Amino acid sequence: MLRTVAALDRMGEENAFAVLARASALAAQGRDIISLGIGQPDFRTPDHIVEAAVKALRDGEHGYTAANGIPVLREAVAADLHKRFAVNVSPDEVMIEPGGKVTMYMATLMFGEPGADILYPDPGFPIYRSMIEYTGARPIPVPMREENGFAFSAEETLSLITPQTRLLILNSPANPTGGVTPKAEIDKLVKGLEKFPDVCVMSDEIYDQMVYDGEQHVTLLSYPEIRDRLILLNGWSKTYAMTGWRLGWAIWPGKLYDYARKLAVNSYSCVNAPAQYAGLAALTGPQDEVHKMVAEFDRRRKVVVEGLNKLPGVSCVTPKGAFYAFPNIKNTGWKAKPLANAMLDTAGVAIIGGPDFGILGEGYVRLSYANSTENILKALERMGNFLTSQKAA
Ligand code: PLP
Repeated sequence: MLRTVAALDRMGEENAFAVLARASALAAQGRDIISLGIGQPDFRTPDHIVEAAVKALRDGEHGYTAANGIPVLREAVAADLHKRFAVNVSPDEVMIEPGGKVTMYMATLMFGEPGADILYPDPGFPIYRSMIEYTGARPIPVPMREENGFAFSAEETLSLITPQTRLLILNSPANPTGGVTPKAEIDKLVKGLEKFPDVCVMSDEIYDQMVYDGEQHVTLLSYPEIRDRLILLNGWSKTYAMTGWRLGWAIWPGKLYDYARKLAVNSYSCVNAPAQYAGLAALTGPQDEVHKMVAEFDRRRKVVVEGLNKLPGVSCVTPKGAFYAFPNIKNTGWKAKPLANAMLDTAGVAIIGGPDFGILGEGYVRLSYANSTENILKALERMGNFLTSQKAA
C-alpha cells in the first residue's frame, strides 16, 4: 500500500477539462456537439507570434533560460504595463512562468497551511479553492452576487478578514461570471486593506484586455499603497490565444519574488525558450489581432445574452468582461449540474454547471462564447428546444 500524503485527496480540479473530454468523445462517436464549455479563445495564435517561436528554435534558442525568464521578455512586460496603465514596474519584479495558473499555485503554497485563512471568490476559478484545500488552509468564499453584477463588494470582502487571513484572491474581469469590479469598489477595498497590513493580495487579471461597454480595466498595480504586498497574475493565454503554449507572467513583491524563483528552480526550471520569444513578439508586435478578437467577443456576447434571456426560465445579466456568460437557471426547475449533463447528452451542447465554480454557483451555468456566432445561435436554439420539451430531472 503506497502511503501518499492526505493533502492529495483534498485537491480538486477543473471540471471544464472533464466536460471537454466528454464532448470530444461524443464528437468522436459522430455526435454533433457544440462546445461552449472550455475557456479558451477559438482563434489561432497570430502568425507573427508563431513565426517568432520558430525563428527562436532555428536560431538555437532551445536551451534552459534563467528560471525567472529571459531579461528582454521581463523588460517587455514592464514596458507593456507602463504603456497600458502608466504604472512603473521594474523588470526585476516580473517573473515569466509556464501559464498564469502557476502563480496561483505558488501563491497558495506560500501562504496556505493549517490555521491560515485564504479568501477567494465564489463562484470563481475552481483552482483557487482546490489549492487552498491542498495546503490545509481554510477556504473562505467571498460571495460574488448576481445582483451586484458578480463584482466584489469591498464591504463584504473586508468583513470576512480575520486575524488568520493571510491571502485575499481577487479576480476581475472574472471567470466564470464575466463580472467586472468597478473602480470605486476597488478604491474602497484598497482603502479598507490599510487596516490589515499583513494580508497579501493576489489579483488575477488574466482577462484584463477583455472588457466591454466602455469599461476600463483597473489594475491593482495602480495602488502604490499595496504594491509591497500585491501578487499580480497575468499571461498570454487569453489575450493572444496562446492557452496551449503555457506562458504567463507575474509580479511578485519583495522577498516573495525569490521564493517564486526558488519554487521554479525546484519544479519546472524555466519556461521553454521558444515560447518566451513568442511572448516577446506578442507584446512588442502589432496588437490588431487582439483588438479584432475582443471586438468579435463583444459581438458574440450580445448574441449570447439576448438569446439566453429568451429561453424559458433563464435570465442572464450582461457580463462586462472575459468571454463567459453565467445565466441564472433557477426558474427552469433544473439543478445546474443535471442540466449541464443533460444538455450535453440530449442537446449536444457542452456547458458547465455553476457548482463547478463554487458553493454559490448552484442555480447558474457557465457558457463560454469562445465559439462562432453561427454555433452560438445553433446552441441557443437547441437549448431552447431542450428546455421546452424536457422535464427537469
Ligand atoms: N485565471 C483565470 C481566472 C482563468 O480563467 C484561467 C484559465 O482559464 C487562468 C487563470 C489560467 O491561465 P493559464 O492558462 O495561463 O494558466
